[in-house]
Amino acid sequence: MKAAVWTDYGKIEIKEVPVPEIGKNEALLKVRAAGVCVTDLHVFTGKFLYGKPPHILGHEICGEIVKTGEDAKDLPLGMRVVVETSVGCGKCDECKKGNRHLCANREEIGTAPYAGGYAQYVKVPAQNVVPVADNVSDEEAAIFESVVCPCGGLMRLGVKFGETVAVFGVGPAGIAFIQTAKALGAGRVIAIARNRKRLERVLHFGADEIICSADEDVAARLSQLTDGKGVDLICETTGAEKIIEETADYIANGGRILLYGLPAENSDISFPVKSIIMKQAQVDGVENNPFVWRPLMKLVSGGRINLKDMVTHTFSLDKIEDAFSLLENKKEDPIKIVVYPWK
Ligand SMILES: [Zn+2]
Ligand SMILES: [Zn+2]
Repeated sequence: MKAAVWTDYGKIEIKEVPVPEIGKNEALLKVRAAGVCVTDLHVFTGKFLYGKPPHILGHEICGEIVKTGEDAKDLPLGMRVVVETSVGCGKCDECKKGNRHLCANREEIGTAPYAGGYAQYVKVPAQNVVPVADNVSDEEAAIFESVVCPCGGLMRLGVKFGETVAVFGVGPAGIAFIQTAKALGAGRVIAIARNRKRLERVLHFGADEIICSADEDVAARLSQLTDGKGVDLICETTGAEKIIEETADYIANGGRILLYGLPAENSDISFPVKSIIMKQAQVDGVENNPFVWRPLMKLVSGGRINLKDMVTHTFSLDKIEDAFSLLENKKEDPIKIVVYPWK
């Protein structure tokens, strides 16, 4: 089969490799489309030292089941699926509760020993496949995973009917937070970012107000928009030290702060503990969880979350290097990029 093999930092080669052999609890998927995630880019370039070459990357996968192991025969051949990324040990207390995302020995699809979806076929544990609704396209399904983490964070923290949510950053995660917050009943969603062109784009995805931090006073605008009360819920996707520190200034009494953007390795954040305590605020971290996949598929299928317009560029797998450089240079302002291994 054809695969894009990450052979060295900054280097990827299209190669012929054997189709994976499946175990008895695994399924073989024909990859129909795969999303290119900024995490893959950072692993590929060595910015995140997570796994090492040679390896096949790609954790955002839409595939079709073409073969099942002897203990996975209940999975219908031909079914289109997305692939839940966390693989637990199956034996610890968290795994037994279904919390494989909290397993101390958790592994991830796309990170060794699990090859990813930048190939014509991929093998995955049978319990990790989630059916794709008929009216959701391969392209939409390919980027489904990128909305899972933001959606999971809001599912856990909850959005109360009519409350005000502020989202910092307007990349794919910011757009996912905006759409999910609206779908869950937010009264008003305010998006904040430096780049006005990118910021204006999120009005299309349901943001009610935008604040350009390059030429507006964020604190004053947030105060004005909330009658001096502060916002009820902040979703932070940038990982920028200054923004993380300032979230406590913007939050209302009893508000919630959801941290998603990873700060740089060497960053030095002085978190405003005193404000958090005095405002009785709640601070939460967010990552993937297995319970969000199926409900989220219903939201996407029902048209509550728009994945279609988040895909701004597509490439054949042969051109994956071009996809990475597009993502890195940001010249054309991609939101999400999808690659096709069979086109
Ligand atoms: Zn991803
Ligand atoms: Zn476990």
